[in-house]
Amino acid sequence: RAKSQHGTNHFYFTRGLGVEIRERVRMMHALRSGFARGQLYLAYQPQVDLATGRAFGAEALLRWRLEDGRNVPPDRFIPIAEYSGLITEIGEWVLREACAELVRLREAGHVDFTMSVNVSQVQFRHPHFLDMLRRALQDTGAPAEYVELEITESMAMEEPDLLAEMLAQVKRTGVSIAIDDFGTGFSSLSHLQRLQVDRLKIDRAFVSEITGSARGSSIAEMVIQLGRNLGLSIIAEGVEDERQAQILRALGCRKAQGFLFSRPLAPDELVSWLAVP
Ligand code: C2E
Ligand code: MG
Ligand code: MG
Ligand code: MG
Repeated sequence: RAKSQHGTNHFYFTRGLGVEIRERVRMMHALRSGFARGQLYLAYQPQVDLATGRAFGAEALLRWRLEDGRNVPPDRFIPIAEYSGLITEIGEWVLREACAELVRLREAGHVDFTMSVNVSQVQFRHPHFLDMLRRALQDTGAPAEYVELEITESMAMEEPDLLAEMLAQVKRTGVSIAIDDFGTGFSSLSHLQRLQVDRLKIDRAFVSEITGSARGSSIAEMVIQLGRNLGLSIIAEGVEDERQAQILRALGCRKAQGFLFSRPLAPDELVSWLAVP
């Protein structure tokens, strides 16, 4: 159909698509073997209390370093891991690694510290997700009450009944739930109310807008208000400068993460960072 309507474009379109698919397949193989060869690792970004600047937790962020030393950004390889189903295995490894790191931090004296782990929709919907979660907690000895799972808002909107039930079961393991990139989807208040979530993460896009126009802060403000009304904790993502932090404090947001405080760190860097009062 495209051909008859746009004769010449069709050629470029299919050729472009072919290249893209080939590239995707190539990356999928590279990711599978890279994962097997230990090229994946985690970086930890501190999450801080906006009043004191002290860290209360960290978010585990997946990294992929190629043999030549180049890093592939997660926004590029995670969709491929999801598409190929590899995310189930990788996600299990991420959870176990993050839980093990949490235990090491606790042994180093950071006992009141939470670990946030991103969970992909594909992974979350896997029939063995709950078993996998329970086993990861048990095997690593990570206390569930210090583990938080981050799911995205777009995921929170689909199949509300199923998700509500799933979250209720996840909550029974003792872990808490945060909705990541909040403000980018359109979850309704009534929907959100039915979900057993503990925290909303204000998406970086809205944090970067708050120092601009008067209307720039309206979404951040709305999310903070929403959190207050529903009794949820709020954390701002991607805080890069002191002015943003100031405005967030004034709006009643108590927690944040972002380059202003720290970039994502290697485990030993995190330990040193935490040691500085
Ligand atoms: P996210 O979960 O929303 O993570 C926040 C992203 O913002 C991270 O990018 C982090 O490095 C970046 N960031 C933090 N502070 C700042 C800041 O002040 N300014 C700016 N410009 N950026 C900041 P990263 O590590 O590239 O991860 C991108 C996305 O990839 C994550 O977004 C998450 O959706 C996904 N991701 C990362 N690790 C995992 C994982 O283990 N599993 C799954 N399923 N997804 C992951
Ligand atoms: Mg996240
Ligand atoms: Mg986010
Ligand atoms: Mg994101």
